[in-house]
Amino acid sequence: MAIIGGIEGGGTKFVCAIAKEDGTILREDRFPTTTPAETIGRATEFFRRESEAHGELKSIGIASFGPVDLDRQSSTYGFITTTPKPGWAQTRFAGAFEDAFRVPVGFDTDVNGAALGESKWGAGQGLNTLVYFTIGTGIGGGAMVDSSLVHGMVHPEMGHIRVRHDLARDPYSGSCPYHGDCFEGMASGPAIGGRWGVPAYDLSDDHPAWDLEADYIADALHTVICTISPQRIILGGGVMEQQQLFPMIRKRVQASLNGYVQSPAITDAIDDYIVPPALGNQAGIKGALALALAALDQPVDL
Ligand code: ADP
Ligand code: ZN
Repeated sequence: MAIIGGIEGGGTKFVCAIAKEDGTILREDRFPTTTPAETIGRATEFFRRESEAHGELKSIGIASFGPVDLDRQSSTYGFITTTPKPGWAQTRFAGAFEDAFRVPVGFDTDVNGAALGESKWGAGQGLNTLVYFTIGTGIGGGAMVDSSLVHGMVHPEMGHIRVRHDLARDPYSGSCPYHGDCFEGMASGPAIGGRWGVPAYDLSDDHPAWDLEADYIADALHTVICTISPQRIILGGGVMEQQQLFPMIRKRVQASLNGYVQSPAITDAIDDYIVPPALGNQAGIKGALALALAALDQPVDL
């Protein structure tokens, strides 16, 4: 049997999986992100061991924390570039797996991967234009537009768009080391924790934190709807475990757009427009597997 491999490379942990070509996961392993040598070594060992047990490895997909270099013409294609994560800046990532396995390696941001995975197997099936956000330790957004993942100049950084900040209502200055009160600076898990002095997951369902949080997320979605015109927006990540946020965000997006964007998706069916990932906490690793499948269709020069 032929198998594919996926790596969800996060700043905190790595998830590796092998799967059948229909996405059925056969084996999974997760371990903390330590040094690049140790972490990439563990992932390599996992694929060696599992392909011996389950069959030939056809391709590997990597959905990585960033920023990453996605420009195939660049000498640092497949690298993690300027990350502040100690030891990981300028790490050759995709190439290490091409060398080790001599198979096509798909490489993209974690959120582009999740957008692709959701479009193939989850909440984005049948759509060609969608946005996937993770709202967790950081905030990132991936976009598929007309069936292609958006890379452009570098790759989208939708976690760092500006949101309105009313200092009288919310004096918190923001946690983003680059922009202070950008979207991530105001609405990521650490921003919530920093503002209220309590970890986000410890705040009660009816805490005023969520009112503010829904406003920041709705502001960001207004911008994204007006720029990309996605057919659906999927919101994942630890903070979105707070299910009560969904109806709050939907209402505020409708109010914010104020009838201007004329689509029944917004005016009549917003419950199906702003949704959680259908793949749940497997959105990341399934995204990596979807990148592995996509890599099989791309000519490579190994
Ligand atoms: P990561 O972004 O590191 O991959 P997560 O998406 O789980 O991982 O995000 C972790 C962040 O989400 C932390 O800041 C944490 O406080 C917050 N978080 C995790 N679970 C919850 C929850 N149930 N409610 C609110 N915030 C949560
Ligand atoms: Zn920022």
